[in-house]
Amino acid sequence: MEDVGVRKLSHYRGRLAPSPTGYLHLGHAATFWTAFQRAQAVGGTLIMRNEDVDPLRSQEEFSEAMLEDLRWLGIDWQEGPDVGGEMGPYRQSECREFYLDAWRRLLSEGRIYPCDCSRKRVAEEARKVVDSNDEPIYSGRCRERFLEEMKNHPPDSPAGRQWRFRVEDGQEVAFTDQALGPQSLVAGRDLGDFVIWRRDDVPAYQLAVVVDDERMQITEVVRGLDLLKSTARQMLLIQALGYRSVDYFHCPLITDEHGQRLAKREKSLSLKYYQEELGWSPDKVLQQIQKATGTSGRIT
Ligand code: GLU
Repeated sequence: MEDVGVRKLSHYRGRLAPSPTGYLHLGHAATFWTAFQRAQAVGGTLIMRNEDVDPLRSQEEFSEAMLEDLRWLGIDWQEGPDVGGEMGPYRQSECREFYLDAWRRLLSEGRIYPCDCSRKRVAEEARKVVDSNDEPIYSGRCRERFLEEMKNHPPDSPAGRQWRFRVEDGQEVAFTDQALGPQSLVAGRDLGDFVIWRRDDVPAYQLAVVVDDERMQITEVVRGLDLLKSTARQMLLIQALGYRSVDYFHCPLITDEHGQRLAKREKSLSLKYYQEELGWSPDKVLQQIQKATGTSGRIT
């Protein structure tokens, strides 16, 4: 008879996708705890993915710390860099070939183009500054110029240039968020052509995430509300690449006592700080998170 273990009862596959660019703070803990609970509630599988795609900002020390901190909190995963699994690699730094394949596909379908604009120019010419935590809406300056060139002389590597995904003006991205209900974002108003490959030859976050979510057969992405616009960008990439669609659950953000989003550079409020300097137990940290998310979102 078939062995019907808990795993087989549910096709839910969730993921924890921290970037090792600093110590995890209470905001991360809140989101990851939610991801853990949602996977547990349906007997699903939780995957740990080390998002160390950016070699300049990622550090081994933080890679080790994030696994330690989440385990300390009581979060457990069934696949990951430390436990293995069938859908590895579980570190983005080992996945360049997968990202290159996606880049080639997008290029051959005429969905991406190289962009010569400097960061300064993009900011100056931005159609609109949406919010300071998100990228400016690109004017589209290089779009027509290069799309034609790409058709006639497609390059065989993305190296040396920044690449943008072309978003149709006015296109609406609509979906039902599992936490927030119906959402609608509009190209030109909320997002513009966005970078999928960086000038320093590093695949951009947006591309790496969709390639990995597909590769790992993720069914639901649980992430912070600060990434809502990225979700819309990723849905467009998913469509363009012909990948399966994914469900989304956006968690409320936790802010500091001044209402500011928590940043990894601030040592205070890191899980390590509560654990090592204040001697808090995991339960006490979880209570603190619950208090903040249940009320104003602020840590007091
Ligand atoms: N690695 C990203 C971060 O730490 C989050 C990835 C995601 O949820 O897609 O901000």
